[in-house]
Amino acid sequence: MRFLLIVSIMLIVIFIVNSINYMENENINSISNDNFKYIIKDYNNNLEQLGRDSIAEETEKLYHAHIIHDSRKDIKKILNNKLKEVNKEYKEKYGINIRSEVLSVESTDSPWKVLFKVRIKADKDTNQFDGILESNSSIEGLKDPLPYAKLPKIYNNINNDGKKIHYFQALAQYLRLHNVDSYESYILATSPLFIKKCPYDPYIHHGDGNTLKECLKQGYFHESADGSCYLCRLDGKGVCPHYGMEVFIQTHTPLTNESVSCSDHVVFHDRYTGEKLNKYDINSLILDSSHAKKYGLVHEDG
Ligand SMILES: [Zn+2]
Ligand SMILES: [Zn+2]
Repeated sequence: MRFLLIVSIMLIVIFIVNSINYMENENINSISNDNFKYIIKDYNNNLEQLGRDSIAEETEKLYHAHIIHDSRKDIKKILNNKLKEVNKEYKEKYGINIRSEVLSVESTDSPWKVLFKVRIKADKDTNQFDGILESNSSIEGLKDPLPYAKLPKIYNNINNDGKKIHYFQALAQYLRLHNVDSYESYILATSPLFIKKCPYDPYIHHGDGNTLKECLKQGYFHESADGSCYLCRLDGKGVCPHYGMEVFIQTHTPLTNESVSCSDHVVFHDRYTGEKLNKYDINSLILDSSHAKKYGLVHEDG
């Protein structure tokens, strides 16, 4: 009986909290003055780009040899500062007083989007608004933070040419430190610089015709429950509890022995072995059987 009572109370609390959230998201539409409503909606629309710019600024820290400890906290701070400026602009432009506070920066069920929640209190003449604005920012087109978070530029020879990341000796040395056999295969490995979502979906068709070749040429990223999300990548995590992404780290080696499988979450976290798809191709991917299966690829023997 007591258990049932507790469960019922919990359900009621969840219901109330959800209703409050729902009301907060709805309350822009409940604003009766059209001009005031337009200003708040415009502010909300701008959050998407401001959020994305804030994430990009955080990523640039890694590319300029800094180390990140808590990306969500940093991004909150960056966005709060941007919003202070925006609030001043709105005051000058529209005569509206806005106070804002970024409540959270969150991963979503899409690895390509980051959710921002911002509390704002606004007033103009007799109109008032007090609520939480939400905005999803796309991370497509931003730089991949993980390689520079794992191999900080201050200690490692890692670089990029505006299209690809070049690991030189750094990744092989990193793997040697993590006791990976045949770490030499990863000398001069490369991976894509910018996050681009692979359009070849379902992924099992990567084995058809030139699909894999084209995917590698364009440097596409793939959805993966095992790979980490963008925010956790900033914190240097190869895996995380959120729905994430993975990318192939491409080796360019004449060596034909087994090495670590080349999906980036395997290289930077799980570290199980794989084999070249084609032993005689120096640019061949090194893959384990379950990743080969996911992408519809086969290991050619002989
Ligand atoms: Zn692909
Ligand atoms: Zn995550």
